[in-house]
Amino acid sequence: MPRTKQPSTPKVCKLVRVLGENVLPGEQITLDLQVAKLYTRTQVDIPVVVHRAKHEGPTLLVMAAMHGDEVTGIEIARRMLVALKRRPLDRGTLIAIPVLNVFGFLAMQREMPDGRDLNRCFPGSEHGSLAARLAHALVNEVLPAADVVIDLHAGGAQRMNFPQLRYTAGSQPALELARLFDPPVILSSKKIAGTLRHHLAKTDKPYLLFEGGASKQFDDLTTEEGVRGISRVLMGTKMWDQEPRSPRGAAELSNSSWVRANYSGLLDTIVENGAEVKKGEVLAYVNDPYGKSLNKVRAPFNGQVLCVNTSPVVNQGDAMFHIGKA
Ligand SMILES: [Zn+2]
Repeated sequence: MPRTKQPSTPKVCKLVRVLGENVLPGEQITLDLQVAKLYTRTQVDIPVVVHRAKHEGPTLLVMAAMHGDEVTGIEIARRMLVALKRRPLDRGTLIAIPVLNVFGFLAMQREMPDGRDLNRCFPGSEHGSLAARLAHALVNEVLPAADVVIDLHAGGAQRMNFPQLRYTAGSQPALELARLFDPPVILSSKKIAGTLRHHLAKTDKPYLLFEGGASKQFDDLTTEEGVRGISRVLMGTKMWDQEPRSPRGAAELSNSSWVRANYSGLLDTIVENGAEVKKGEVLAYVNDPYGKSLNKVRAPFNGQVLCVNTSPVVNQGDAMFHIGKA
């Protein structure tokens, strides 16, 4: 009998499909997420950079500037892309969106041109507002490819955040990923409707929100912590063939609240961002411009300072210090 040739088993290759394109092993490409035209008829493209190693591994999405003026995250993503040029991935795929809200970045503002906060518009809709359309495109054309998402943010105007990772309370895979990232602080947070974190909490994809620095400015500590943490994730997931150093160990906090100003006046802050504080410890003085000391601002409980208001002047009710506790 003639010998029949055994069919060879086809090599199964993970499909990495981003914006409708199949990204092949070993490929590095930049794709464009197209959302809308400006009123100048200019098409606005949102570049999505994809680096895929020859060998199989997880897919990590790193995204920044969901809020257009949070530039420190853009710098972290940029530094990671430069690092990948020097040292390509050994396994898996990195998808980087250094500037998600290109519209806000151009205008150096947090919101989309329609005034909406993109991070309250998830999962978005195809025919909704501009922000909803961008959210929808991200959810449907990029997120399905990602196994893990790291989203880079900064504090609002004059709110200087100490570098910290936030994850949805109860998500064990996200907590384990956060411990691998090893930031100074890990804070578990409640779900907020419309956020990407809330949307992804319905899936099994670990999502980490990295907060550090303030909008419209660079913060060296935040940049260093962001690059260090993402590099550790690449090592710990074997995307880079190197063992991460043993972690420093983050402070794991589960609760936080704001200390608000009881008086309007000049703010003289004496506590350092990131400092551990004891209940009753003086954080700042609020003084009037005419030589009168109005108020000592004290820590309401034992905790750690997670954000400092850097404004020279506060009004009654203004948030001054964000304090976290275990
Ligand atoms: Zn943000």
